[in-house]
Amino acid sequence: RFPVEGGVIECSRESQVHQIQSGQVIVDLCSVVKELVENSLDAGASSIDVRFKNHGLDSIEVQDNGNGIAPEDFETIALKHYTSKLSSYEDLTGLETFGFRGEALSSLCALSQFHIVTARAVDGPKGNKLNFEISGKLKGTSVAAAQKGTTVAVENLFRNLPVRRKELEKNIKREYGKVLALLHAYACISVGVRFAVSDQMPKGKKVVVFSTKINPSTKENIVNVFGAKTMLALVKLDLKLEMQPSKGPSTQSARSWNTQADTGSKEVQVQGHISKPIFGEGRQAPDRQMFFVNSRPCGLPQVSKAFNEVYKSFNVSQSPFIFANLIMDTNAYDVNVSPDKRTILLHDQTALLESLKAALTQLFESQDQSVPQSQL
Ligand code: ADP
Ligand code: MG
Repeated sequence: RFPVEGGVIECSRESQVHQIQSGQVIVDLCSVVKELVENSLDAGASSIDVRFKNHGLDSIEVQDNGNGIAPEDFETIALKHYTSKLSSYEDLTGLETFGFRGEALSSLCALSQFHIVTARAVDGPKGNKLNFEISGKLKGTSVAAAQKGTTVAVENLFRNLPVRRKELEKNIKREYGKVLALLHAYACISVGVRFAVSDQMPKGKKVVVFSTKINPSTKENIVNVFGAKTMLALVKLDLKLEMQPSKGPSTQSARSWNTQADTGSKEVQVQGHISKPIFGEGRQAPDRQMFFVNSRPCGLPQVSKAFNEVYKSFNVSQSPFIFANLIMDTNAYDVNVSPDKRTILLHDQTALLESLKAALTQLFESQDQSVPQSQL
């Protein structure tokens, strides 16, 4: 087949490009749930219902009581790069919303059977059901009964990407497990937001998987999700890291991307909860680890490694429960690293890790190290 004959270089058709790119934004079941839940949180919801059918293979529905969508936005809502959250490139440095690229809804149109039902407070008990074409173009609207808020329904995910669909079917148990872990993270960090997650297997009954109430702090959220026993096994994290910028070259530095980062505040706070380092006690907590940057759930492999290393030096036999929210200047990190927005680049990560390890060691040293009588 090579070399390709003809020498005709063509620009891919727009629809083709859209489908190719969509598969990078929505890579798996987690991406769908992440994007929809983040949209609900961005819309100011205080109640979010996530409903799976057949672990998400048949459908995923996210219903919120947020602001709803204005009729003047119906035409553009699912078009690529249409967003209500970012009006200039400069806004990217001080980002406070989860979304900013306007790619999730348009990608879901390309990869599933997709519709929205939405109503604003002024719309009364009547809302609108919106149907879209694969391109994200509005196909039609119809009147539908609806409370204030938005419901987004995604059916037959990856129906037009046969390899990805087969993989999803094959690995659905594992994928579903990952989705629940992600939802635990959103439910625990979202103070003042009620979450309810349910699943319905074909011919089975709808089962509530977990739920939280509108709580005043993350502590109650954790109790709702993981049970009161878990809380007893935890110690509060409230660390203030004064960071000295590291001298060595840092490949993780966001400096080249954003020169403003150098002028940003160097203080990072770490708030949350972690298993007590005492042998035996941490066992009451599940082996769960959740990391956030300014309440944005994310994978932070190096930070996670630092936490686990320090914990291991106090307790070799157990793996800790960790719920850690890193609070820092919005200029000090970059979320626009990968199309699925899961990777976060931390400015001056080396200095942060050093400072974190020292502060954690101090915290654990101040804990009562004596082995309980029952363990002797
Ligand atoms: P982004 O979140 O990056 O803006 P999305 O494709 O996820 O892009 O959403 C496009 C737009 O649709 C959002 O900017 C927002 O205005 C609107 N939207 C999406 N989901 C909701 C929702 N649940 N409630 C209200 N508006 C929504
Ligand atoms: Mg979004």
